Amino acid sequence: MIAKIKELKFESDYFTLFKLANNCYAAIEKEYTLTGSNTGFVDLGDKIIVFDTFLNLDVAKDLIKAVEEITGKKPDFVINSHFHTDHIVGNQLFDVPIIAMEQTKESIEKYLPETMIKLKALPDDFVEKRREEIKSEQDQDNKKNLENELKFIENLLKHKIEVTPPNKIINENIVIEGKEANADIEIVENAHSLGDIIMKIADQKICFMGDLLFSDQFTWIGSGNPHNLIDITKKLLQEDYEYFIPGHGPISTKKDLKLQLKYLEEILVIAKQRLKENKSIKEIQISDLSAEFQDWDDLVFKWNNNFLETFLKAEE
Ligand SMILES: [Zn+2]
Repeated sequence: MIAKIKELKFESDYFTLFKLANNCYAAIEKEYTLTGSNTGFVDLGDKIIVFDTFLNLDVAKDLIKAVEEITGKKPDFVINSHFHTDHIVGNQLFDVPIIAMEQTKESIEKYLPETMIKLKALPDDFVEKRREEIKSEQDQDNKKNLENELKFIENLLKHKIEVTPPNKIINENIVIEGKEANADIEIVENAHSLGDIIMKIADQKICFMGDLLFSDQFTWIGSGNPHNLIDITKKLLQEDYEYFIPGHGPISTKKDLKLQLKYLEEILVIAKQRLKENKSIKEIQISDLSAEFQDWDDLVFKWNNNFLETFLKAEE
């Protein structure tokens, strides 16, 4: 039986550290910080695996410190769950094999340098001016989008980012065997992104999900395929796992997977119906969904509707 989740005493402005079991730890982002996402690590006895590396080098440094303080060891492997910047910026601090799918490597090599070039071209007072703009922005949707974009820009400008793509590519599931436990590294093609990876610690019933799970918020579907996301969510619901570390949001259980599934199924039914009636998918409101979703933030909900407008039309 899994040990009760325990919050650990570890000082970080960016994340709260939880012990999930004998050997599994989750770093859950604190709200309104520059952390970017959740990560975690597992101690297999003779090997430490770090799952994702955040949006910010300061946070990644805290994570390395946490690994060393808690396990007395240094990381041996890093997993990149997928290519999105909020999960991979800390890569450059790890001089160990960084495991990912080919599509993740290609996307990091393509998009991160492009982003860095664009950022370098920004005027010195860009951040300051953008902050002022956000303050006076009346349209709440614009305001949220600008705030989200600024979070990324500020982080990437803050440090000298060296593009560090994964250097150990896997195209099939692998097992990393340790003295005391094994980690199952599973590939999931094109669900949240083109090359997703999850990490399962079977004997502790814990699954590190990357962005295949968003908890207490709408899951972002615009970079992958919602049908495949439904399939993997259903598959995991049938397996014997108890705790799921989402890419964003609190430590989760199957209740959260079910909620994600419910949202995906509902939004697809509503969107397809609107398409049939020649109505815009972009106009769908949260109030069109079930009661559970009414308090969730609408930023990603709107992004998803924009994405579905194109995605479902292309499918017809
Ligand atoms: Zn993502």
